[in-house]
Parts: sequence; C-alpha cells; structure tokens
Amino acid sequence: MSDHVRQAVVDFRPGGGGIARRELAASRISAARSALANCQLCALRCGANRLAEGRGPCGAGLDTSYFTAQLESGDELQLTPTFAIALSGCNLRCKFCITGESSWNPRAGRLLDIPTVVRCAIKALEKGARSIMVLGGEPTIHCPALLSLVSTLPDSARLAIKTNGYYTLEARELLGGLFDDWVIDYKFGNNTCAASVAMAQDYLPVLHENLAWAATSSHLIIRHLLLPGHVDCCWQPIARWIATNIPDVELNLNLAYWPAWQALRCNGIGRLLSDDERRKALVISREFSLNLIQ
Ligand code: SF4
Repeated sequence: MSDHVRQAVVDFRPGGGGIARRELAASRISAARSALANCQLCALRCGANRLAEGRGPCGAGLDTSYFTAQLESGDELQLTPTFAIALSGCNLRCKFCITGESSWNPRAGRLLDIPTVVRCAIKALEKGARSIMVLGGEPTIHCPALLSLVSTLPDSARLAIKTNGYYTLEARELLGGLFDDWVIDYKFGNNTCAASVAMAQDYLPVLHENLAWAATSSHLIIRHLLLPGHVDCCWQPIARWIATNIPDVELNLNLAYWPAWQALRCNGIGRLLSDDERRKALVISREFSLNLIQ
C-alpha cells in the first residue's frame, strides 16, 4: 500500500455512527458554509472567499445552480435508472467535456431549489428509479448545497455521487458517510496529460488519495473514458495502479469517446478512437485482470 493510500485510510472518519443520514448532513451545513470563506474544497486550494463574492478558478460562489435534474438510464446498470441532478460549475477544464458549456459555467441553468428537486427525485423513486445521483460539473465544489440536498432526501434512497476525484480532505470530512456510491472518474494516468488536457495540477496524488478513501469508506465505482492517443500514457498506468492498489474495484471502461466541446482544438483528441486502440485497451484490461462492469 502506497503512502497516499495509507494516509487516506487513516484520514477516513466514519460519519454514520448510528446517526440517520439526513441528520448527519444537516449537522454539517453550517461548517460547510463557513468553509466557503476560505475555500479549500478542491485541490486547487485557491482560498477564494465565496461568501463575499470571491471567485476562484471554478467560478462558483455561495449559490448553486443546476442544469439538469431528470431520470437517466446511461449509467452503471446497478444504479440505473437514476434520477441525476447535474450541478453547474467545475474545478477542472477537460477540453473533451460532453457538457462543457454548462459544466464550466457555475451560473448555467437555474438556481437549485431543493424542495422542488427533492419532490421530483421522490417521484422518480416511486416510479422505479434505483438511485439518486448528484454530478456536475463537479458536485464536490458545492458542499453546502450537497448537504442541504442530502438532509432533505429520504434516508432509504440509494445516493450516488459522481465526481472527478479532485477534492480535498476538507471536502471528504463534510461528505464522508453520506453517499452509498462514489463514482469517480480516473481520467489520466500521468500528471502531464492531466495538466495539458484538463488544467489539473498534481493530479495523481490527489486522485489516488481520494480513490483509496472512497474504496475504504463506501462502495466505489471507477470510470475511465479512454482518450484517443492515450492508451500507453494514460490507460496502461491507470490499469496498473488499480490492479496494484484496489484490484477488485468495479471499473467502467468507456470506449465510446466523442470529441465534444473544445476537443477539436486540443492536440490529438479531436478524433474518435481507432479499432486498434479499443482492442489494445481490452487486452490491457485482461492482462491486469480488471473487474470491468457495465
Ligand atoms: S472549489 Fe473553486 S473556489 Fe474552492 S478551492 Fe476549488 S477552485 Fe477554489
């Protein structure tokens, strides 16, 4: 076990302790709001004062907007159909983001009206939705809104959070113990690709720490979207890291890349995957005996 993995396990402080999830979430809202005065929720650690209209690289303030809240069926089979609530704004700048226009703009869509969204979520559950998923953009930059949401949703609902995994210990302490499933994107296998394609600094140590924490504290699903030209530099080391550190983790390998948003302007990722790249990716999965899921 690497030092980062060991530290993440040590960091984990179970939040449940017999307290109902709603109550636990409600008890943390005030701390989450205070944390916005010197925001350290993501690994960019910009320290913006979001209570005083300060804005960091993510552009998010005190308010949270969302750009969709609807039943969706494109996620992992065990979660789908899911009522997916997509919060606006993100701390990363992935050039290939499929929802880039809304994801990058924290004011896209409409202000999050929690009673209305919760009513729709409950209706969806009554109609047979298996889970409720919060995503983005990046949901962990909106800890106060997440806590308000969880404090209002039924304790019995299966709650999933889908994140880019670029959050901090401070976010983990606010969100730990509240979600049944952490669905984390493992986007890049090295820091150079992470910096050039998504403007993520020091990406791997942060991601590895958060993956280890999620694997220990909840049910973790890892997603990887294979990028064209990134089999050897990204997928291969990702597969190796998973096989070495969390070999049984459920892994959703997406081979259906589409050059969305600004991908056409970014070197190398403005095309579809080749058949050869897809084949090679699957060979690597088999070599490392990864636990692929759909
Ligand atoms: S979430 Fe936004 S404001 Fe907070 S540290 Fe990250 S970039 Fe800065």
